[in-house]
Amino acid sequence: MAVSRAGLLRGRFRADPNAIRPPWASADAQAFASACDACGRCGPACPEGIIAFDRIGRPQIDFSKGGCTFCGACADRCPTGALSRLDGARPWGLVAEIGAACLSLAGTDCRMCHDHCDPAAIHFRPLGRGRWLPTIEEADCTGCGACVAVCPVGAVSVEARWGKEA
Ligand code: SF4
Ligand code: SF4
Repeated sequence: MAVSRAGLLRGRFRADPNAIRPPWASADAQAFASACDACGRCGPACPEGIIAFDRIGRPQIDFSKGGCTFCGACADRCPTGALSRLDGARPWGLVAEIGAACLSLAGTDCRMCHDHCDPAAIHFRPLGRGRWLPTIEEADCTGCGACVAVCPVGAVSVEARWGKEA
């Protein structure tokens, strides 16, 4: 039986359990790794250009390129069901986090993340002396990642909070 290059690579490298997979991927890293055959169709389908591929050809989201609009094009191109838009299924269980490098914490008037957040999930509370505490309203955050690339100091990340089935 012929062994594909992707198969050889898969044997040499393990999938990163912390990689952010495209929306509607299984929250279980092993289940996704088993279902995805690294065909690569989802990447070119993404109009935002935010799907990259790891060393074994499996897709992962690169929020440095922009945010997800949840258009579903990636899942619609997936032939194996590794990305599967079932009725009512949440695309993923991601939430934004703003770290200590945030300029507003240090008194610089920056609201770039807030200005790019469509669901208005980012708020700022006054700390005095011109400093502001950024907070994420998790109930409103979709984990789209639109706030990540626009932060001038790279203070925003998107983290897994719960499985998409939650
Ligand atoms: S849902 Fe649309 S924007 Fe989001 S990763 Fe898939 S193709 Fe790209
Ligand atoms: S990830 Fe999206 S919804 Fe959440 S705070 Fe950032 S821009 Fe707003």
